[in-house]
Amino acid sequence: MQHFPIFLNLRGRTVVLSGGGEAALAKLRLLMKTEATLRVFAAEPCDDLRTLAADGRIALAERALQPGDVTGAALFYAADEDADEDARTAAIADAEGALVNIVDNLEDSQFITPAIVDRDPVTVAIGTEGAAPVLARAIKRDLEERLPPVLGLLAKIGKLFRPAAERLPMGRARRDFWADYYFDAGPRAYEAEGEDGANAALEDLLDRHLSRSAQDGHVDFVGAGPGDPELLTLKARVALDKADVVIHDRLVAPEILELARREALLVDVGKTGFGPSAAQDDINAAIIEHASQGAHVVRLKSGDPTVFGRLDEEIEAVEAAGVAWRIVPGITAASAAIAGLGQSLTKRERNSSVRFMTGHDMKGFAEQDWRALARPGEVAAVYMGKRAARFVQGRLMMHGADPATPVSFVENASRPDQRVVEATLGDMADALSDTPLDGPVLTFYGIAPRRARAEAAAFEQEMAL
Ligand code: SAH
Repeated sequence: MQHFPIFLNLRGRTVVLSGGGEAALAKLRLLMKTEATLRVFAAEPCDDLRTLAADGRIALAERALQPGDVTGAALFYAADEDADEDARTAAIADAEGALVNIVDNLEDSQFITPAIVDRDPVTVAIGTEGAAPVLARAIKRDLEERLPPVLGLLAKIGKLFRPAAERLPMGRARRDFWADYYFDAGPRAYEAEGEDGANAALEDLLDRHLSRSAQDGHVDFVGAGPGDPELLTLKARVALDKADVVIHDRLVAPEILELARREALLVDVGKTGFGPSAAQDDINAAIIEHASQGAHVVRLKSGDPTVFGRLDEEIEAVEAAGVAWRIVPGITAASAAIAGLGQSLTKRERNSSVRFMTGHDMKGFAEQDWRALARPGEVAAVYMGKRAARFVQGRLMMHGADPATPVSFVENASRPDQRVVEATLGDMADALSDTPLDGPVLTFYGIAPRRARAEAAAFEQEMAL
């Protein structure tokens, strides 16, 4: 984004224009919607400009702009439609401290004027950084049709009602109330009975919304996938888009959090303050606190929420509080990591079952059925297995597993910085000390990266060097 959109308060400010023709008039039509003082310099102003001046809408000086004319102005428009004259006036304005726009000259302009949909006080500004003016016009047309013309009036009436609406719990309840007003009850009432109708509709709507159950909140336990935002499910995207509150783990990538509704409250429960693991009660409390105020809470967990996510503890707490919930599955790290290896999780004549296991649990390194796993052809996806690598290696060797059994580590699966380290059971712990991996790592026991793929990657790397 090269141009940052802002709304500038022009009350009591001056905007200066140089130009006496159509370009100047077009900008003035927009600027006259604001409360700015408008000063126009034009050696030969057109009749329309003279009329505006006679009506007191603008201050018109019938001469070319000179140094000193822009002092103290907030904005300056060079609208002479003459490259040399525009450059001359723009230089003066720049020296005198105004932000400069040269009409139809994106390159030399310090700001640009967006396409505007005006439902004052609701204003939609559309910009394409000059890349696609046609698109801007199409979006404007679309919005013009979609936003009822009375929206501005409804907003003015609604503004006065905001304190009363605060009786509704924050979040979805309040949002639903306003959506009903602006897009349904409000326009209908205004059309039928004008301003009084809109006011009555607000009172009536508030009563109806207040009598709805305060327990409207609910919790979605959503899988954020392994990191690549494109591996989110559509359901997860919709949930994020509607969320009032997003309570997320540290592992959830920032690109995914950006998909949350802009007004959503983001709560990071992976950070200190919530502590590493003992704070599950605090997490439960945060979920329930928001949901029982009527909020739509998204509890966002990396990968799939049902895999090593302590999901049941959270569900039990939510159930106990009488809050509705559902699970939105996600792509688990093992699925992303195996894709990174170019292999499949199960394979005819190699393995007909896979274990998902964790390297450690709350009590320390996690014990497994090592004897069963040590048999030839077994495959396991080990979560949280980095620190436990030497432990897993020791246990499997002790139970007679072949030291030549392939082991693969996939760090940051599905992310741009994904890395694969290939090892065997015999050297897996050393391989990890030789190549320290800082990101989350999925360990595959019993599967090597597909050879052709590993070689192609090595070749590509060599070519890049
Ligand atoms: N619910 C998650 C797992 C949470 S446990 C899921 O379904 O994926 C956290 C462990 O998941 C990490 O220690 C790591 O082993 C694994 N993990 C999560 N994201 C990963 C990724 N992008 N790449 C590799 N491993 C990952």
